[in-house]
Amino acid sequence: MIDGEGQPEVTAFFIHGRLHKQLPRVKAAFHTHMPNATVLCLIEGPPLLWLGQTALKFYGRTAVDEHYNGLALDESEGDHIARAMGDADVLFLKNHGVMVAAASIAEAWDNLYFLERAAEVQLRAMSRDEQQSPAQPVLHEIAQRSYEQIQIRAADAESAQCNLKSVKSGMRQLRERGIAFDA
Ligand SMILES: [Zn+2]
Repeated sequence: MIDGEGQPEVTAFFIHGRLHKQLPRVKAAFHTHMPNATVLCLIEGPPLLWLGQTALKFYGRTAVDEHYNGLALDESEGDHIARAMGDADVLFLKNHGVMVAAASIAEAWDNLYFLERAAEVQLRAMSRDEQQSPAQPVLHEIAQRSYEQIQIRAADAESAQCNLKSVKSGMRQLRERGIAFDA
């Protein structure tokens, strides 16, 4: 911890501390057990499928850690996670949850938000009855092109800053109106 008060949660410190050390490109790393993305970590096979456009934001940017090791109570688990993440921006931790990494807090938050939305629609598509199997995954060339178009159109870092700003102002307005919410 370089600023603020209190003590970091111990398992978070072992993971995040090592991740920042091993992967200097990562300026913000968020780890969550958000429900839809976590469900993708609890089923067999590749977690995120290239079925829908929202998922394609992450095309070529994901990795999977297949080996759940229990709680992280020393640095070795953080090193293991950093290795599993490699060049990816999203790491699915099997039997556990997800980790997203980015060059800024806004981009990491943006990744989390769209990852959860992509996971949600994928799970809905997968939960149709057996007569209605999900669509075919998008072919590699189209998936790659779509990913590039999304990056160009969104000018990612800037759009992530705007998204985070609008969420913060929405939260402020709720607070001002005395409406309780979890944040
Ligand atoms: Zn966790």
